[in-house]
Amino acid sequence: MKSIIFISPPAAGKGTQSKLLSDYYHIPHISMGDLLRDEVASGSELGKKLKQIMDDGKLVDANTTLELLEKRLLKDDCRNGYILDGYPRNLSQAKSYEELLEKMNKKLGYVIFLDIDKELAIKRIIGRVVCPNCGSSYNLYIDDVKPEVDNICNRCHHKLEKRSDDNEDTIIKRFDTYMDNTKELLDYYKKLDVLSTIKITEDQKANTVFEMIKEIIDD
Ligand code: AMP
Repeated sequence: MKSIIFISPPAAGKGTQSKLLSDYYHIPHISMGDLLRDEVASGSELGKKLKQIMDDGKLVDANTTLELLEKRLLKDDCRNGYILDGYPRNLSQAKSYEELLEKMNKKLGYVIFLDIDKELAIKRIIGRVVCPNCGSSYNLYIDDVKPEVDNICNRCHHKLEKRSDDNEDTIIKRFDTYMDNTKELLDYYKKLDVLSTIKITEDQKANTVFEMIKEIIDD
């Protein structure tokens, strides 16, 4: 069973690594943001409430995130593990998650921190393009994750887009907020002795990081 929690500031390569891991180990990539957006898209009463909260940039309440996560983890494709992204986001969610795991008789697994300097994150974010159709992400400034054809997704051939919030001002804010909020989470997982840190460097290939993650997991 390979359960992986990614703790990763923006632009550290979490999207790319999640896809590589998901394909290699045949485990689903579960993003809390996506679970919430799916609920909004369903048009349910809960979805309407969530839309308001998310549009305001606030955090969704603990019960809702936990319930959505439980529902998702009960699906059959999570039997052999999963990659969890965007959850837990703070200490209180980390503790709720552990209670949920206990109830479901599952183990915490691996917590991987992709540690990237702010300057490098800014550079990468400015070059980032994503596929609105299949979610693949690319970077115009990183050779091995550049799209093969300019502006076209390698996987589904859809036209690539830049995220509207990928600009220097917002990235600095997003980076600082992320690190402020996750510091307690990192300290907590360090104390539990389940945290592995991978330092992200400028000329590192996505595959090198992937090999490092595999080494941690296959240990
Ligand atoms: P993301 O896709 O991670 O940028 O998340 C989009 C939005 O979903 C956030 O702005 C929050 O409103 C909500 N959200 C995502 N993850 C969580 C979480 N772990 N706890 C509470 N709210 C969340």
